[in-house]
Amino acid sequence: MDYVDYLNDPQKFIKKEGLQADQRLFAVNVNMQGWDKEINHLKQFLPKCLRPQGENDGLSYLRQEIDGVNIPQIYIKTEGVWTGGHQENLSVNAININHGPADCVWITVDNENVQKLRQKVQELYDTDIFRNEGLWFKEPEFFLKYGIPFRYTLQKKGDVVILGAGCLHWVKSLGQTINTAWNQVALDDMTLEAMSERHKLNKEINYRTVIPYKNLMLDLYIHEKSLSQMTIERIQLELQNFFDQENRKLHTIDPPSSQLVECCKEVQLCSKCEHEIFLYFYHDNEEYLCLDCVQNKLNHKSLLISMKYRYHCFYFLLQSQPTNCNQEFCCPYTGKTKCQIQQELKPEYQEAQFKYKGQPKLNSMLHGTDKMKKKKVDRMDYEIDVKTSLNNDKQKTRGRKKSIDKSQPTIKRIKNY
Ligand SMILES: [Zn+2]
Ligand SMILES: [Zn+2]
Ligand SMILES: [Zn+2]
Ligand SMILES: [Zn+2]
Repeated sequence: MDYVDYLNDPQKFIKKEGLQADQRLFAVNVNMQGWDKEINHLKQFLPKCLRPQGENDGLSYLRQEIDGVNIPQIYIKTEGVWTGGHQENLSVNAININHGPADCVWITVDNENVQKLRQKVQELYDTDIFRNEGLWFKEPEFFLKYGIPFRYTLQKKGDVVILGAGCLHWVKSLGQTINTAWNQVALDDMTLEAMSERHKLNKEINYRTVIPYKNLMLDLYIHEKSLSQMTIERIQLELQNFFDQENRKLHTIDPPSSQLVECCKEVQLCSKCEHEIFLYFYHDNEEYLCLDCVQNKLNHKSLLISMKYRYHCFYFLLQSQPTNCNQEFCCPYTGKTKCQIQQELKPEYQEAQFKYKGQPKLNSMLHGTDKMKKKKVDRMDYEIDVKTSLNNDKQKTRGRKKSIDKSQPTIKRIKNY
């Protein structure tokens, strides 16, 4: 593996790859999609409540796998590499294990203090931390100076860090480290409230939401009787709003009602803009389009619009809180859920189904591969320039060729605001 070659002899590696002498390899992310054996191995050592897609994890209701969200990711880093400040997508929870050998340092800001930090950074550096996630790193002195409450945590080999909803965090490796991490949704008022807030905010600042929030809330609304009445009513109201929005949009396209076809309720994202598809969409063999993207098509008036559920079924679902599963809505889910109808389907089946339907593979926009490409290096460290990002799936690991992204050697020493 290239990373090992690098560790064994950095000079040789740099020569071989044709990099410049002051460039360094520093981090590798590996997606664990399809790594069933390895994921099961991880699960064996964890209490049930921490396992990915476990019984009390709201993300078990996702209808597709999303790298780094409900599928763990591996982060391999050398000394001084850091993951910049960010909240998890939609402010959900995260589980992170350090497999060592070295320690990691975490700086975290609780959700209730994040706005304070956001304002301060806006004021001082004219930067919105929500729009520029993952690109910045601050030392404890900064928080002390501006009176922003924070936590400083040393994660030693074997330690598990569990992040609360909306917790903003930075992670730095003090040596060579291997971590695995994934997301969860704790089914409590605080977490679901934080997600709802973040979903609204993402819309406001036009930030892409990776986790299909509306679909997820629909599935929680149908299945999770453990939620408080307050939260259930809030979700009910949200779903009503999403439903109204969809119908308004459909109205502007105005397809003849005889042309609405019910199908494909597993579809979650628009193939073009990657926004969530909630109720109505258009699809042909190649793509699934949300109504916004449909409107941009020239011949949209004549297109056959599909719907995931029938209008009146949705209408009735929103009138009274459901007590049972519902054939109209329930789907095969990725994790352990309370659904009585659709027990977990075999992944092979699901994959085949999606390949057939042409749904593109979902990509994680989290602090995984994409963000790592953008990662900047801490000023304290020696000059490290090349980011290497191995976006592996199993086939790639087994093959000979590794795809190393050295197309974007970054500028040395990024402004540290
Ligand atoms: Zn994170
Ligand atoms: Zn279809
Ligand atoms: Zn779209
Ligand atoms: Zn169900």
